[in-house]
Amino acid sequence: MHLKQNPHVLTDKELSKVKEILGSPCKVAIIMHRSPDGDAVGSSLGMKHYLEKFGHSVNVISPNAYPDFLKWMPGNKSVIDFEKTPAPANQVILKAELIVFLDFNSLNRIGDLDKAVKKSKAFRLVIDHHPQPENFADIAFHDVGSSSTAELVYDFINVLGDDKRIHRDIANCLYAGIMTDTGSFRFASTTAHTHDVVAGLIRHGAEPTKIHRFIDDNNRDIRLRLLGYAVLEKMKIFPDFATGFITLTQSELKRFDYKEGDTEGLVNEPISVKGIVFSALFTEQKDGEIKISFRSKDKFDVNQFARKHFDGGGHVNAAGGKSELSMDETIIQFLNLLSEYKMELKGK
Ligand code: 5GP
Ligand code: MN
Repeated sequence: MHLKQNPHVLTDKELSKVKEILGSPCKVAIIMHRSPDGDAVGSSLGMKHYLEKFGHSVNVISPNAYPDFLKWMPGNKSVIDFEKTPAPANQVILKAELIVFLDFNSLNRIGDLDKAVKKSKAFRLVIDHHPQPENFADIAFHDVGSSSTAELVYDFINVLGDDKRIHRDIANCLYAGIMTDTGSFRFASTTAHTHDVVAGLIRHGAEPTKIHRFIDDNNRDIRLRLLGYAVLEKMKIFPDFATGFITLTQSELKRFDYKEGDTEGLVNEPISVKGIVFSALFTEQKDGEIKISFRSKDKFDVNQFARKHFDGGGHVNAAGGKSELSMDETIIQFLNLLSEYKMELKGK
């Protein structure tokens, strides 16, 4: 199929190295980032199914649990949750000859899993689309211009000339990754190439209607009540700063029987208000830490904002971070920052 001239195409030397490694069966560990999203899980399981076609022994490790709406993916049951069962995860890393890191490029994204990784002598392949990569890969297939890691996994398979080996399970997992990371093909990261890739996936058997139903129409009713409550009672809009945010404390989350993934997409509500270009979602974790999601439109760079002020990072228009302060103190800090960034936010 037609592929654009990708800046992340491997050099001849890198390509032969990858081919050499994959030329005979090897032990592979695939690692995704903490609190994995649809792209992390989809690209990891898509890659697993692809590598298994060659007879490699492939294990996927997640640093911690992920939401139920991603558990339909083929291969889901074989994913090792490091937080729940650290011993088998460490074993897999210890024995691995190749480690594939998907959808992140800094080792602080995998929490305590990094200890085993740092000890490992395995070859390290990173496939990722986040900015400002840390240099820990032997080979990095990296492109910040790509919509998702799942799109890059598709490109990677193509670069190796294995387009024809893509089957329905691979296609469904990669479709899920692209669809979730692009907000169903609407974020600015979605390109003509993204649509080419999606067309290719459908030709190889991806089932869009089924996937959208699994991911979007999989709510418990109490989850919708949590989202309704958050928008009605907890969303604050500040037109003077073109900003909106939502806060949720542990007691509020408990009231609505919170489960991992229940607040997915909630950060997009404030930014859907006319004139708003910056939104944030602050959720109090069980240990008291405040987890923050940031979204923006156009030029306001939330990757830089999260890195500078909230020990985080991400992309220009979607990032995350954290705060060790209380919720109230975190909000005071955030409001002070809004004053500092007023000119940028208002585009003046
Ligand atoms: P979300 O708000 O959906 O959790 O994350 C949005 C984006 O920011 C994702 O691409 C994610 O990988 C990145 N991100 C979220 N939290 C962090 C963090 O603590 N550190 C870094 N470097 N990136 C993050
Ligand atoms: Mn991603």
